[in-house]
Amino acid sequence: MKKTKRILGCLLVLIVIGFLIPENFQMPVSGASSADYHPKSFWFYPWGKSVTHKGVDIFANSGTPINSATNGFVLYSGHINYGGNFVLILGPKWRLHYYAHLKTIAAKPLQLVSSNTMIGSVGQSGNAKGKPPHLHYAIATLLPYIWRIDDSQQGWKKMFYLNPIEYLQQS
Ligand SMILES: [Zn+2]
Repeated sequence: MKKTKRILGCLLVLIVIGFLIPENFQMPVSGASSADYHPKSFWFYPWGKSVTHKGVDIFANSGTPINSATNGFVLYSGHINYGGNFVLILGPKWRLHYYAHLKTIAAKPLQLVSSNTMIGSVGQSGNAKGKPPHLHYAIATLLPYIWRIDDSQQGWKKMFYLNPIEYLQQS
């Protein structure tokens, strides 16, 4: 019983620490502005095999540098079928930041990044092949925000996927 309490206490402290680290949010695509993404592209439906579009597509010339949008810790970088070359970063507030369709990857797993560290460049890898080069950027929270669930297509997933456009517009 005492041990369980101690573990729960540690977990709580850890969660709180995650909220104390500043995000320092910034536009991840170098030189891009609100003209380079569609303001209503988040949760766009229908969106192929993903059903809904759970991020934002920021268009730029191939090879444009991508910087981390927040401070964070690189969990993974590599290649997957749909996402192509991608980087996954754990940022403050227990949020995952996903960067996909990269041309080149410049971030290594376990690397600490700040919100201006270059992590790769804009490309067309994965299922963006043949489409204009863009960064697919998504933010997911590990702590579910159940009050965000609505009755849209896959609306229950909104407890995890946050709208990156809201953050881009504030940055
Ligand atoms: Zn996308």
